[in-house]
Amino acid sequence: MKKIVIIGNGISGITAARHIRKLSDHQITIISAETDHFFSRTALMYIYMGHMKYENTKPYEDWFWKKNRIDLLRAYVEKVDFNSKSLQLANGDTVPYDDLILATGSKSNKFGWPGQDLKGVQGLYNFQDLESMEEHTQGVDRAVVVGGGLIGVEMVEMLMSRNIKVTFLVREPSFWNIVLPPEESDLINRHILEHHVDLRLSTELKEILADDDGRARAVITNEGEEIKCQFVGLTVGVSPNVDFLRDSELELDRGILVNEYLETNIPNVYALGDCAQFRQPFPNRRPIEQVWYTGRMMGEAVSRTVCDIKTAYKPGIWFNSAKFFDIEYQTYGHVWSQLKENEDQFYWEHDSGKKCIKFVFDKNDRTLLGINTFGIRLRHEVFNRWLSEKRDVNFVLENLREANFDPEFFKRHEEEIVESYNAQHPENQVILKKGGLLSRIFA
Ligand SMILES: Cc1cc2nc3c(=O)[nH]c(=O)nc-3n(C[C@H](O)[C@H](O)[C@H](O)COP(=O)(O)OP(=O)(O)OC[C@H]3O[C@@H](n4cnc5c(N)ncnc54)[C@H](O)[C@@H]3O)c2cc1C
Repeated sequence: MKKIVIIGNGISGITAARHIRKLSDHQITIISAETDHFFSRTALMYIYMGHMKYENTKPYEDWFWKKNRIDLLRAYVEKVDFNSKSLQLANGDTVPYDDLILATGSKSNKFGWPGQDLKGVQGLYNFQDLESMEEHTQGVDRAVVVGGGLIGVEMVEMLMSRNIKVTFLVREPSFWNIVLPPEESDLINRHILEHHVDLRLSTELKEILADDDGRARAVITNEGEEIKCQFVGLTVGVSPNVDFLRDSELELDRGILVNEYLETNIPNVYALGDCAQFRQPFPNRRPIEQVWYTGRMMGEAVSRTVCDIKTAYKPGIWFNSAKFFDIEYQTYGHVWSQLKENEDQFYWEHDSGKKCIKFVFDKNDRTLLGINTFGIRLRHEVFNRWLSEKRDVNFVLENLREANFDPEFFKRHEEEIVESYNAQHPENQVILKKGGLLSRIFA
């Protein structure tokens, strides 16, 4: 039996611990400075908006850990001594280990703006950020959120749920256009504006001004405009939370460098989740993946390896989802912000401007490469399968109903979708037969 210590009680560390317990009797200790228990980080916004209580965001009851012989330690690890295999805690204690699993997550980026450390200026990543946001938005009338990504739009929604007027500074000329193709990005621009957000595209933060109490009172943009506010959200991305590991033998780049087995350069030391960076990224994947379900998959893989069933992390088909106010977004496979040389696309948007589908496929053999949907929910397992089976776009279109959560939607819009496909792709028509191809396709 060995002593396994995990730093981080997020989805990656917790999944690793649960699976190690299923596979072995090893001694397991999880250390985290953030909260006593694992909670769903993705639900932080709902706590602020009053839809959920913190207690409801914990996927396991508090007794679960003791029952499964997983020790929880609330502490901050200041340093790791890889030679003596021990951790130094901020409270002065040391903790020895045989195997160490680093699952330390991310931290919010700050880019050295004047005023970035004032009261009422913060990011949104951890539970302490939520508490700080609660404290610093009391009585606030105007806020500025800087950075047009998924966490930025969540923060805007959170503030607006408390009737705080928000100016949203987005550096790019269109919302999240480093990820979203032009049509989808434009749909979200319009949606944000319809929610009465003061969206400023192509606008950057230059400086944050303080009042006499050292609290934010305004921001200055790169255009020289002063925007009054009492709260500033900095949501300009996250990076691996690894500063306490610098200046050690552990090899780091932006994150902790790992191979496909999530092994670092030091024997018996592993890294996973948001803090890990693959030395050899998987095809079409980023070296650091900061999403919930990949952290869970890595947790399962590493648990097997530390229990002597050496198992590589296999990322599978890329998937992500998010919400832009009330519009749900899902993406499967690869839909890049710009089509690649070998790619073609089909885009359909409903008249309401609130629903759309985009298929990206290979120009030559029409194999589906990726799909984006907004305002339409699709079945994960179906798209996962079709992408793995390398189905062509016509097959997918003909069977779309199988992938859809809301058959009524397709009953209402099937004709329009296929007409639109035919208009965009006269070279590869879906032919309507008597009685309706669509009644055949979607029956
Ligand atoms: C507001 C928000 C919304 C999100 N929404 C989505 C979403 O909808 N879908 C999605 O896929 N992903 C989403 N994400 C991203 C997702 O939450 C992360 O990818 C995931 O939580 C990372 O898990 P992890 O286990 O790697 O790290 P974390 O959950 O960050 O856990 C790491 C833990 O380690 C602790 N720690 C770090 N260093 C030390 C130390 N030295 N000593 C002690 N403890 C330490 C930290 O305090 C933290 O508790 C969202 C993130 C945020 C912030």
